[in-house]
Amino acid sequence: MELNARQKEILEIVKNDGPISAEEIASRLSISKAAIRPHLASLTLSGFLAARPRVGYYYVGKDRNALIADIFREIKVKDIKSVPVVIREESSVYDAIVTLFLEDVGTIYVVDDQAILQGVISRKDLLKVSMGNNDLSKMPVGVVMTRMPNIVTVEPEENVLEMASKIIEYEVDSLPVVRPLKDDALEVIGRVTKTNLTRLIVEIAGWG
Ligand code: ADP
Repeated sequence: MELNARQKEILEIVKNDGPISAEEIASRLSISKAAIRPHLASLTLSGFLAARPRVGYYYVGKDRNALIADIFREIKVKDIKSVPVVIREESSVYDAIVTLFLEDVGTIYVVDDQAILQGVISRKDLLKVSMGNNDLSKMPVGVVMTRMPNIVTVEPEENVLEMASKIIEYEVDSLPVVRPLKDDALEVIGRVTKTNLTRLIVEIAGWG
């Protein structure tokens, strides 16, 4: 939760002089008791303050882990996503490998001419098919890709914690960022990877 200026003032007062009554806080800030109620309610609900009858409000703070979880909940997939690297289903495995090197990615998304997600092809998929005696320039990626509906995806408004949980649960390196259209079609509008998460951690550490 983002604190407003008034809530920060209240927090300072309670931190320094708590336990303290709502009346006393209101009078210090020269505002009415009614005006202070909503601020106290929201600070109590979000875990910064606690109240005891006849004692008043006192500072609880948030533990460090809860604060970190809050940060990852506030940041959305749309804030950290990258441009997707896509290929058509008819493209050859050879072309997919070239794309992998040229674009410097580990996973390519397979889409149709409307950018609708058809499949995913990763490093290991390409390595596996390259080990057989195949003519890679004749083999379409459609033969080796992981196909819809078995693709784990994420939407732009999902938060970073939800995204990271999917990456861990499904043991994949990247998730296509999609916008659902009608008939279960998913338009590919981005990608998020373990690299995006790593970059975010370094960025957050730099905020301090
Ligand atoms: P790597 O091939 O480098 O190990 P991944 O761990 O991401 O990369 O891929 C492992 C397998 O999971 C591959 O067969 C790949 O096609 C598939 N895969 C990759 N991303 C997804 C995803 N988002 N949803 C479903 N399957 C995926």
